[in-house]
Amino acid sequence: MVEGLMQDYELSLQHVLWRIERLHQKKEVVTKRDEGIHRTNYGEMVPRINRLAGALKRLGVKPGDRVATLAWNNNRHLELYYAVPCMGAVLHTLNLRLFPQHLEFIINDAEDKVLFVDQSLLPILKPLIGKIPTIQTIVLLAEGPAPAADGMPEMLDYEALLAAESEGYPWPKLSERMAAAMCYTSGTTGNPKGVVYSHRSQFIHTMGVLQGDNLALQESDSLLPVVPMFHANSWGLPYAAGMAGSKVVFGGRFSADPKSIVELAEEEEVTFLAGVPTVWIALGAYLNESGKRLPRVRTVVCGGSAVPQALMETMDALGLRILHAWGMTETSPLGSVARVAAGTKPEDELRLRLTQGRVAPGVEIRICEPSTGEELPWDGVAFGEIQVRGPWIARGYHNGYDPGKLTEDGWFRTGDVAKITPDGYIVIVDRTKDVIKSGGEWISSVELENAVMAHPKIMEAAVIGLPHSKWDERPVVYAVPKPEFKGKVTQEEIVEFLKDKVAKWWLPDEVRFIDEVPKTSVGKFDKKVLRASAVPITEGATPGARR
Ligand code: AMP
Repeated sequence: MVEGLMQDYELSLQHVLWRIERLHQKKEVVTKRDEGIHRTNYGEMVPRINRLAGALKRLGVKPGDRVATLAWNNNRHLELYYAVPCMGAVLHTLNLRLFPQHLEFIINDAEDKVLFVDQSLLPILKPLIGKIPTIQTIVLLAEGPAPAADGMPEMLDYEALLAAESEGYPWPKLSERMAAAMCYTSGTTGNPKGVVYSHRSQFIHTMGVLQGDNLALQESDSLLPVVPMFHANSWGLPYAAGMAGSKVVFGGRFSADPKSIVELAEEEEVTFLAGVPTVWIALGAYLNESGKRLPRVRTVVCGGSAVPQALMETMDALGLRILHAWGMTETSPLGSVARVAAGTKPEDELRLRLTQGRVAPGVEIRICEPSTGEELPWDGVAFGEIQVRGPWIARGYHNGYDPGKLTEDGWFRTGDVAKITPDGYIVIVDRTKDVIKSGGEWISSVELENAVMAHPKIMEAAVIGLPHSKWDERPVVYAVPKPEFKGKVTQEEIVEFLKDKVAKWWLPDEVRFIDEVPKTSVGKFDKKVLRASAVPITEGATPGARR
């Protein structure tokens, strides 16, 4: 072998830290706090990141130790994003919307050593005290001295810790294979599993996120990631912003409130937003109600669940261009982006923007028959499980859980079912566990939901399959009417509306109206909760086709 003569430069997040220090000092990091807007910049943050690394070392944090965060999107969380991995430890972002027993499991599974917690999240931590023995130190992310909190052990104060350290931390030389961060899957089935990102995977993923045909975040952007910093590292956007030098705007604990997002976006001249569909459904409704617009926003990244056509159209009408992306915690998360290829006919654009798009450069994809593993053609018809491989795709979970997720030939089994068109556009049909099996045929719950959400009186809809004596399973729609149509829409109306949109045997057996679709910890429709509380189908009295 003739070797190439290029440097073996270790790919690490220290490079991103180097860039914010050398190139982006003046770039602002803005956070909405209870007391008002907090404004800082990378120039002020870098010395604090150095102090924080010193404090971690003084607390006994060693390379490879897990440092947990229970925090909203804010500037201190961003300081932790840099200090923890760059000093050789592993940043473990905890999902603050999980049930206490899941948090307890996750902290113990990861064996976290130090935990940083936002003051407003203490009530979430409190029930865990006494049950998380590996945690040696709790640091409170509060203004001023830590207040006495009932029933809590002694906590250190973040600002006091930083004040005691020096501004020059001797950053160690890191190996690119070292773990940098970990994030647990949202645990829709069974216990959550820890995905462990390496410095190398984070570096390459960051470069991927920035590509022009991927998310294309730029130096000139003002980024407001509505997606939480505990959800797959806020989709990698904080590091991408650091690498590119974009301004960053955080919603703090107000991220779920459309009015706050709109105000923040207006005031901070936001150009780039990212979040799950439910966030944009609420934001679109708020903009329509208030008459406000966000003309500076050039991209609204939307992923985490399929984008309903009605949402894309509402946002288009508001001048907000959705960029649909697919991925998962195990894919860092960027997997594919729905950019429409050059030369596409205008009449095909919307349809293609609604697909999950084409696989990101750097990642390979295939679809396989789940039972036999046989690879299926990209003909836009055959559908099977998506499998992926690449430098930012997981090869396993912390503590070796679920080894079967990796195929023998090294591909990651996503559990998503899709078809792929000859041009490479991925169309997700469902999660394997959400597909409805009726009379031996598959019904896509996602497609049916989208069709229902296109009804002018409906705001949100989730579809699940419920047991049926004859057909095995039949679809049932749970629909939330728009506020002005509450009590003024009937199930017959919805079924009638669907008749020319889906196959006859896809027509739901029942449409049940509810006030809100239950959501998972990361804001997706929680069908597990719907299934658990669903009353059985009234067979024989159905408005659907199979009577
Ligand atoms: P999580 O790891 O919690 O982010 O969940 C990942 C899962 O969310 C994927 O495996 C998909 O089932 C789903 N998902 C993410 N993005 C999309 C999308 N654009 N369309 C449909 N499903 C999606």
